Amino acid sequence: MIIKIKAGLSQDVIEQLTKKCEAFHINYLNEEFLITGAAVKELPEAVKEVAIENWVFQNDLQLASSAFLPVKREVKIGNVTIGGNTKNTVVIGGPCSVESLEQITQSTQFIKSLGLQVLRGGCYKPRTSPYSFQGMGLEGLKLLAKMRDEFGVAVITEARDATHIDEIIEYSDVIQVGAKAMYDQGILRACAKTQKTVLIKRGFGTTLQEFVQAAEFVLAGGNPNVVLCERGIRTFETGTRFTLDLCGVAWLKKYTNLPIILDPSHAMGYAYGIADLARACVAMGIDGLLIETHPTPKTAKSDASQQLDHTEFEAVINSLKPVALSVGHTIC
Ligand code: PEP
Ligand code: MN
Repeated sequence: MIIKIKAGLSQDVIEQLTKKCEAFHINYLNEEFLITGAAVKELPEAVKEVAIENWVFQNDLQLASSAFLPVKREVKIGNVTIGGNTKNTVVIGGPCSVESLEQITQSTQFIKSLGLQVLRGGCYKPRTSPYSFQGMGLEGLKLLAKMRDEFGVAVITEARDATHIDEIIEYSDVIQVGAKAMYDQGILRACAKTQKTVLIKRGFGTTLQEFVQAAEFVLAGGNPNVVLCERGIRTFETGTRFTLDLCGVAWLKKYTNLPIILDPSHAMGYAYGIADLARACVAMGIDGLLIETHPTPKTAKSDASQQLDHTEFEAVINSLKPVALSVGHTIC
């Protein structure tokens, strides 16, 4: 249950209430809320005097639900605001991994030349094999910071586990919680303590409910700036790397209040399908796209087969613009 309580209560009183009700307390847009588990269906006695409004839920999709906030949240991705009534579709581009100063500089200059504002690049890579490239770590984060300083782009980079989450929070504008990391309680709880935007990717074996509940950890812990990212789930099909769950995206649009970004690159796994998928995504009126691009995909140290070269990426962006326009959105 979400309970909106009177403004102006002392910290002590709020603390007592959270203990008595076994609840979280958050302040959202200058209003105070307590959140209990969804099993609570009747307003607890302890809050009756201070409660203004309450919402009862069937399950723990609560703060993220459209039943609580019928209008999608506005969230910042760098300087771009998505969600709300913005109708912005932000395109996040860049390589799978930061590999060298030269590679990330070329990528940043390219992204900027297309008028895009958000650069991606992994520095701590959650690889399936220990023998694959694991990322440049802190050295890579410093290169991303250099790109931000020199070119004015916002940067998004992923946390692999909780050991380096403080570094990721310090160096990134948007924290990416990857498909394999989205169950990591250490990462989620640390993300709850910052106000930086957190992009949570759906695990490839994760139900929509579990996916949104990962977001609930961040929201209930005090950070309202969460974005969901569908990046493909595992099905019986092996011809493509994963299967982009557009039905799931329709569900998320209906039942949640969080902006939604789609990642056709990891879903498809091959460069040849990205353009078609990206257009299909944009036609759904989504809040953003994440597409991998590399100056020389063949030499990429991770996800080589799915990264677009710069010519291919530019062609995709140009082809997205009229699709976005047809659903009242702007690519930015
Ligand atoms: C990535 O964005 O490079 C990545 C590892 O994504 P995912 O967590 O979706 O596999
Ligand atoms: Mn990748």
